[in-house]
Amino acid sequence: MSRPRAVVIGAGITGLTAAWEITRSRPDVDLVVLESRSRVGGNIVTEEQRGFLLDGGPDSFLRTKPQAVELCKELGLDGELITTLPRAHNVYMAYRGQLERMPAGMALAVPSRFGPLIRTRLIGPLGKLRVLGDLWVRRPDELADESIGNFIARRFGSEVAHKLASPLLGGIYAGDVSQLSILSTFPQLAELERKHGSLIIGLLKAQAAMRGRPTSTPRAIVDWLGRASSPAPSPFQSLRRGMGSLIDALAERMPPVRVDCAVRAVSRVGEDFRVTLDDGTTLLASAVVFAAPAHVGAQVLFDGALGDELGQIPYLSTATVFFGFREQDIERSLDGVGFIVPRGEARVLAGTWVSSKWAGRAPDGHVLLRAFLGGSRGDVDVPQETDEHLSDVALGELRRLMGRLGEPLFTRVFRYHDSNPQPVVGHAARLARLDERISQIPGLALCGAAFDGVGIPDCVRQGRAAASRVLARI
Ligand SMILES: Cc1cc2nc3c(=O)[nH]c(=O)nc-3n(C[C@H](O)[C@H](O)[C@H](O)COP(=O)(O)OP(=O)(O)OC[C@H]3O[C@@H](n4cnc5c(N)ncnc54)[C@H](O)[C@@H]3O)c2cc1C
Repeated sequence: MSRPRAVVIGAGITGLTAAWEITRSRPDVDLVVLESRSRVGGNIVTEEQRGFLLDGGPDSFLRTKPQAVELCKELGLDGELITTLPRAHNVYMAYRGQLERMPAGMALAVPSRFGPLIRTRLIGPLGKLRVLGDLWVRRPDELADESIGNFIARRFGSEVAHKLASPLLGGIYAGDVSQLSILSTFPQLAELERKHGSLIIGLLKAQAAMRGRPTSTPRAIVDWLGRASSPAPSPFQSLRRGMGSLIDALAERMPPVRVDCAVRAVSRVGEDFRVTLDDGTTLLASAVVFAAPAHVGAQVLFDGALGDELGQIPYLSTATVFFGFREQDIERSLDGVGFIVPRGEARVLAGTWVSSKWAGRAPDGHVLLRAFLGGSRGDVDVPQETDEHLSDVALGELRRLMGRLGEPLFTRVFRYHDSNPQPVVGHAARLARLDERISQIPGLALCGAAFDGVGIPDCVRQGRAAASRVLARI
């Protein structure tokens, strides 16, 4: 090797960010990006169909975690950033075969106002009363990992855990709140409890501090009971031409990604690495950024201890199904982002009213809808079912919950097989063991959705950190 070589395995958002960071900061490095599929982007895929714009996987990122917005700006996409449409102020929940508006002011399943909670039909009288328990239930003496379900039930009671936390918090992971770790999914909630005892008081104090008007506990409680409604601005951003434009902008700025190149093995050669591809060819590298799913790492990485840990990170499969309609063929008003579904209420996990959420997703006079299926619920076995079955289930459930929908102009199914990592209870301890092991292998970095956060901003942060780690070796 005349120039030092770095290999990035996996061209999803994490691998591409790592590759961009390497290209940008060390143009002297011979960078090779390997991707097993025939396209780059991983979970991120944007397609056009008859004038509709479909984001098959992620459709947005949080701006409260700045890394994705910063990356967009760095790539010259500032003018492309969009936020949710003003009409998208409602979120609905499937409830007894219909859609019921969620109480306003829910922040990650924490009711930031008492009024809307007391008025909702989604929680019974005893469940509402139990929410008040958050104001005096003692916090545990030590911060220990537990499931989201346990955590929320401890603070607000089991009805809120089942009906609100499960679809709101578990839904982000398509996962089961009785398995997912609170510390690895919503550490900010655990932190509110640790700091303030009560989530409600903690949330109100945090919001007041953000507005530059710190508040006392009694004042926070009075505010919670009586505050007038003031909808918070949407924390979500997307891109005018879809999430795929972020992938295109990254891919343009680095040597061409070698697609259809699955890595079969990574082994050590002295201090360096040998990367073997599916066709048997090999590459020598001084540094390797592994940004493919953890279950792939378990198969290809040379280190048994790493492989064992990686193989134990569970993954779930999901699908998204899109339907394009003429507006006149839809009975109900689409005055929100869509709906979420508690367990047992429908065979879809959620529905997005895409064209009400984002501008430019459907031609004038048309509507784009998306349904999520699969995950931990077991209602639909995504990998086993045909596209036709998945779209039949999705359309049937949309019709049952939303009322009359005419015949769709088109249907498109995107499959995410073993693509949704589950940070289950004990995930943080697993990451600590992985870090310990990796610290003994200079030149190798692991990053991506299976590790320290699944959101796009988390992936961007991890990609950059992985690049810095391996560059320190070269
Ligand atoms: C349906 C869905 C909706 C989502 N919505 C959102 C959202 O709105 N906002 C948000 O922030 N997050 C969302 N997420 C999560 C987010 O999309 C992912 O966490 C993120 O895209 C993961 O990126 P990644 O690069 O780590 O992994 P991936 O995107 O999985 O990329 C890994 C890449 O590695 C490749 N690979 C696999 N094996 C090999 C091999 N042997 N050799 C070479 N390459 C290999 C894969 O083909 C893939 O391209 C969503 C996820 C899904 C599935």
